[in-house]
Amino acid sequence: MSVKTILPGTTGTAATAGSGQQTTLGVMGGGQLGRMFVQAAQAMGYFTAVLDPDVISPAGLVSHYHIQSDYLDQQGLAQLMQRCAAITTEFENVPAPALVTLGAHRPVAPGAEAVGIAQDRIKEKAHFVRCGVPVAPYAVIESAAQLAAVADDLLPGILKTARLGYDGKGQLRVSSRAELAAAWDELKNVACVLEKMLPLQAECSVIVARGWDGSCVNFAPQLNLHRDGILAVTQAYEGNMPSALVQQAVEATKSIANELRYVGVLCVEFFLLQDDSKAAQTLGSLIVNEMAPRPHNSGHYTLDACDLSQFDLQVRTLTGLPLLQPRQHSPAIMLNLLGDLWIDGASPPWDQVLALPGAHLHLYGKLKASKGRKMGHLTFTGATVAEVRATALAAARLLGIEAF
Ligand code: ADP
Ligand code: MG
Repeated sequence: MSVKTILPGTTGTAATAGSGQQTTLGVMGGGQLGRMFVQAAQAMGYFTAVLDPDVISPAGLVSHYHIQSDYLDQQGLAQLMQRCAAITTEFENVPAPALVTLGAHRPVAPGAEAVGIAQDRIKEKAHFVRCGVPVAPYAVIESAAQLAAVADDLLPGILKTARLGYDGKGQLRVSSRAELAAAWDELKNVACVLEKMLPLQAECSVIVARGWDGSCVNFAPQLNLHRDGILAVTQAYEGNMPSALVQQAVEATKSIANELRYVGVLCVEFFLLQDDSKAAQTLGSLIVNEMAPRPHNSGHYTLDACDLSQFDLQVRTLTGLPLLQPRQHSPAIMLNLLGDLWIDGASPPWDQVLALPGAHLHLYGKLKASKGRKMGHLTFTGATVAEVRATALAAARLLGIEAF
């Protein structure tokens, strides 16, 4: 279903305005991405509804309405549709059939088809190949015959489940055929892709927002540092990566979004290969890794460093409001705040962190900290890259986060 522009505020004629009929936007999922979507929508004057099975969730806590139901529960979906003028999602594993149901009656962005492709590494890689963007050499493994037929050249490699992997979960590194066979057993012989291990110099991501009319705007590529498979640090400023690759990464992301006829915010993650490596000579320096059909952790700095954040753009794409090219007004570095910082029960020294100039603290309202759990993030903005680096490193020291 395409969308007529959905304006914020009270609906109805002048006579009924103020009668309490507030235009409401819905989101499938109650995590931190849903929370920041809800906050952006509310700032513009929309009411919000969150569908999430948990009694307490980061987005449910701050939304006008929280529909506590399973993602496939027909009653819950009916309630969401009844409340909402349009519906978005905040995590890629929302069941595609739920989006089909919603999409038959309401504008839903991103749509079931695009989300279905992003949920499955096999379909996702095929899409990248279709777009002509280089991927790591890979093989699909769905049967013992395909396992046996894997080319030696793909080893050492990483075996990744086709579905439901995130933050480094659902993948195993293998260096021999015997290890590969054992790893596939360990992953319960589900559909997988085996990717050749590439010599990475760095990783980056590009976030675009594409509207119902096909217009597309983008943020500049972010440089991302992962630790233990989880994003740790994002650096967003001019000069953060080789300038020759900046335009290439943006163009690749736009073509991936256009080919999907994508509507909403899309993040595409890339590898930058080591310059002198054989892989870079044969594949090129920029390799697409994966995409997320939603705002992304690596774009959280846009809340504090840009005139439009990735969540503002999610609201605008969903409602058909104008898409403007966002402008970054400050260099930025984001540090992820994982549950590890709370593990001894004490609160981290926020008073000292907030004494640093340009510090912006975002905590997601999660009641329980655990190792590797994303509890919040800290963004540093400032006049110069040197200043932002100095304050971000000072915060990392205060928090016991390894320097970068
Ligand atoms: P997830 O869905 O868990 O984020 P990814 O496919 O992005 O899974 O892999 C997690 C991390 O593992 C990547 O960010 C990268 O650091 C590393 N990695 C993944 N694939 C490769 C590869 N083919 N070669 C080298 N490193 C890789
Ligand atoms: Mg990843």
